[in-house]
Parts: sequence; C-alpha cells; structure tokens
Amino acid sequence: MNKTADVTAPSDFIREVVADDLRTGKHTKIVTRFPPEPNGYLHIGHAKSICLNFGIAHEFNGVCNIRMDDTNPTKEETEYVDSIMADVHWLIDDWADKNLGGAPLYTSDYFDRLYQFALQLIDKGKGYVDDMTPEETDEFRRLGKESRFRNRPIAENRDLFERMKAGEFPDGTRTLRAKIDVNAPNVWLRDPVLYRIRHASHHHTGDKWCIYPMYDWAHTLSDYIEGITHSICTLEFEVHRPLYDWILQALELSPPVPHQYEFARLNLTYAVMSKRKLIQLVREKLVNGWDDPRMLTISGLRRRGVTASALRAFAYNIGITKYPSMTDMAVLDHTIREEFNRTAERRLVVLHPIKVVLTNYPEGKVEELEAVNNPEDENAGRRKVSFGRELFIDAADFMEAPPPKYFRLKPGGEVRLKYAYIIKCDEVIKDGSDNVSELHCTVDLESKSGGATSNRKVKGTIHWVSAAHARDVEVRLYDRLFSEAEPDAAGDFKSSINPNSLEIVNAKCEPALSDATPEKRYQFERLGYFALDPDSTASKQVWNRTVTLKDTWAKEAKKSG
Ligand code: ATP
Ligand code: MG
Repeated sequence: MNKTADVTAPSDFIREVVADDLRTGKHTKIVTRFPPEPNGYLHIGHAKSICLNFGIAHEFNGVCNIRMDDTNPTKEETEYVDSIMADVHWLIDDWADKNLGGAPLYTSDYFDRLYQFALQLIDKGKGYVDDMTPEETDEFRRLGKESRFRNRPIAENRDLFERMKAGEFPDGTRTLRAKIDVNAPNVWLRDPVLYRIRHASHHHTGDKWCIYPMYDWAHTLSDYIEGITHSICTLEFEVHRPLYDWILQALELSPPVPHQYEFARLNLTYAVMSKRKLIQLVREKLVNGWDDPRMLTISGLRRRGVTASALRAFAYNIGITKYPSMTDMAVLDHTIREEFNRTAERRLVVLHPIKVVLTNYPEGKVEELEAVNNPEDENAGRRKVSFGRELFIDAADFMEAPPPKYFRLKPGGEVRLKYAYIIKCDEVIKDGSDNVSELHCTVDLESKSGGATSNRKVKGTIHWVSAAHARDVEVRLYDRLFSEAEPDAAGDFKSSINPNSLEIVNAKCEPALSDATPEKRYQFERLGYFALDPDSTASKQVWNRTVTLKDTWAKEAKKSG
C-alpha cells in the first residue's frame, strides 16, 4: 500500500495563536473554514490552504467547515462544486476528515441572514443606499469624496434597500454602502459597497434574489454565523481586515467573534496558479482538461500519480509564513520521490526498445531470475523475472560512438543487465536507413548476479526485458508545462508553454507489471516513478510518469545559467 504516516505537524505563527487561544480559554473549540469560490477546479495553492485549515482542526481537535463562497450569481457551478468536494475528500480523507460531512456549506444559504444584518446596519445609521453609478462610486472613493446620498435619513435608506431587494430598480442604479470614513487612508474603509443590484439567477437560490452581497460583507458574516474562531486567508486580505473588524463591531455582535489571520500564498516556479489562467488553458485546449497530469490542479496531480499523503507532506514542508515567496517546483518533486522511494515497487520497463540477441545463449532456454521488489522495504518481497536469448534494452543505453567515460553499452563494451549477467556488444546490425535494428552480444555465463561463481564488476548496469515475455504498454512522459521559471513574468504566460511537456511512447514491460493496481506506485528502474492512468484498458495499460528519479531541471538551469 502507498499509505504512509504523515510528517509530524509543523509549528507556525498561526498554530501558535491557536494554541494560545486554547490555553488562555479565549476559545474552547477551534473552528476554521476553507471557503473556495466554485468558479474553477482547486489547485495546489488551495491544497496548502486546505492542509492548513483542516490540519489545524485535526491537530487541535476542532472543526473545519468547507463553505462554497457563492456570492456571485452563476448558473453553472455544479461541476465545480462536485470537483471541489471530490478533491478535498481525496486530500484529507483518512487524515483529517472526521468532521467533514457529505455536503458543503454555502454562503448563499445565509443570504436571508445577511440581508437582516444589512437592515440592522441601516437602522444603526451605519449603512446608506447610494444612487451613484458604479463608475461614480469608484471615482468618489478614489478621491475620498462624500456621496451626496451619504446623509439620507435612516427610514429612507431602509425603504430604498427593501425596494432594491423587491426588484424595483435596474442593475447598477443603487448600492448599499457602509458609512465609515470616505477619507480613510485604507481605501477599503472608504464607505465600501456592501450590496449591488444584479438581476441574475443564482445556481443555489434561483431567482429569489436580485441584490447580492459583496465579498467582505458575506465573508465576515458567514464566518460569524458559523462560529469560526480563526478565519485564515492569504496576504492580499490583510488590507481587508480593518473592514472585517468594522463589520463585526458596527453590528455589535455578541462574542465570540471571529478573527482574521493572513499567511503568504503558495507560489511555485514553472507554474501558473490563478484560476483565470487555468481556465484559459482548459478552454483553449492547451491541455487535456482540468485533470491533465501537467496541470497543477489537485485533480491533475492526482491523475499524474501524486498521492494525497505526498501532497500533504509538501504542504507541511513548505510551512506557513507572513512573507511572500516563491517555492521551487523541485521541492514538490523531491517530496514525491521521498515517499515513493519508500513505497513504490520496482519493475523493469524499456521505453525505446532495441533488440539484443545473446548469440551464445541457448535458443529456447528461459531462466527465472530473482528480483527485489523494493530495496527500501523487505516486506515488499521478491519476484521472478524471465531471462532468455532475446531481450530488449533501452535505446538510450546504447551509443555507437560514445564519448569517453560512457559506461552503458557500446561496440566492444560490457555492461551488466540488472539482476542478470554481464554482456558484451560484438556486432551492431543496421536497417536500410542506417538505424540500429539489433545488437548481437555475448553473455558471460559466469557473471550471474548474486551467483557464487563470479563477482566480476563492470561500471554500468542497465535495465532490460525478455523479448519473449515482454508486454506492450503506453507510457506518457510528462514534463513541466512551462519552460520558464516564472511564466507570469514573461507577459503572456502562454508564450512560455513547454512544447515538449508530453511524450507518448510504446514501451515494453516485464509481465509482473500486469498485476499493477491504480492505488499503487511503481518505480520503473532507472526511469522514474509511475502510476496507472484511468485511460488504461483490460488489453493495454497506460502509465503516467509522476516524477523522474533525479532533478533534470537543475542541470538545465545550470547549463543555461
Ligand atoms: P485564484 O487566485 O487561483 O483564483 P482564489 O483565491 O480566488 O484563487 P478561492 O476559491 O477564493 O480562490 O480560494 C479559496 C481559498 O484558498 C482562499 O482562502 C484562498 O486564500 C486560498 N488560496 C487560493 N490560492 C492560494 C494559494 N496560492 N496559496 C494558498 N492559499 C490559496
Ligand atoms: Mg477568491
């Protein structure tokens, strides 16, 4: 099984606050939330936030709510809600799922209460209906100017707001604004808009509403309604915090009230992370859907073969700070390798086969040689691999005119076949167009691996499969989707798409791979870690390379740098 213990819980400034609040009795039960807007699939940045919020709930015996932040009216979010739930479940089930029920919460379920809170705000003289256009409102806020509607009597505000809700006014003609301070240095406090008119159907509430709450109003009060203790978001919202606190105070809500904390979002090299850009990649068919294994969506990572435990380990390793930073993609790859090295069984697979004929090995003879399934895990056991006169080796392991210090196979040279014998290349057979079609080699029958007769050593060891026993499989070799470390910096991120991000090969594998299951990960020896793709059929397996064995990009960077 791939299941591994999670790394130990990290410590950071948010967890310190949580621990303190429990110690001092400020809170007796911690409630966090993860509030995605259902307008796209979740990506690896969201995974960081999910692991933080569910992680804290898990570590401190609290609860984490999942709330669809659906304040924008749309008709087509079912696909997104479903994918979000599937991704969150996949990421946290068997770990921190004890409080996650079947259905998510929806901000739109609170629309009635949010409306009642708005009436209360008006009654307290802290909210007013403004008849200015959205453009005028923006302009006045920028200039720090008061609207001529700012000092409307409470009764008139109430009447107009009720009529806004009743649908009497067209879109954009009126808004509800908070009455705070039009000159506040923090622009978010310059009488922000709390409600706008939009005659549009909502996925969840249908045509019931034609006024919709703005983010700050909806978010703050949803947190309050749910009894959230620690409302954790990314740094961009730091400037919203005074408004968050103002809303709670203006309504004179009884404690405990939530408090907002901000952390630095995940930025990864060789990646784009904004949903808007991910949607472009999908819509313009630059990738094969949201779960394309090159996408850094949770569903793409899953399809590529990344396990939930590896993704959680990654989220924990990178830590939580207050400082914006860029995480190297190599950190993700490293985390995956570290887990898979422990859990993945080894198999022999030849990606670009060339035939090898062992001219001194008896025709028809087959030996069953012993191979170790996982040198890191004795319990993984051993298996037999068949060896015969005709084999496949990888084209990448043979060079006709190699440079010095080439330790794989070359004319006249020797190499060890993993788990088997040392062979020597005697003759290179070519086809009509001068391509190598076959290698004729002799095998040193005294050199069997683990054999008693010889412990002769040669510098190179390569993988192989017996031609008579090999099965055909499709292997999808994925590389980074972008070839620039910062695709966003180049202006148009699409111009740095890596044209070689996918290579599909027809490979030969040893028969033992036929028993593979989608839950397990495999190391194709010397090639990388692989997982079965759902495109696999009964007659043909399709494999995705989850990660290479070594960081090939570090070398590239050095070369060009
Ligand atoms: P995007 O910018 O990709 O569109 P978003 O912030 O608009 O993302 P939401 O659905 O609103 O997407 O995000 C849900 C939660 O995930 C928020 O609490 C947000 O702070 C968090 N989140 C989004 N992106 C990241 C990231 N890169 N790193 C950490 N947390 C993130
Ligand atoms: Mg958002």
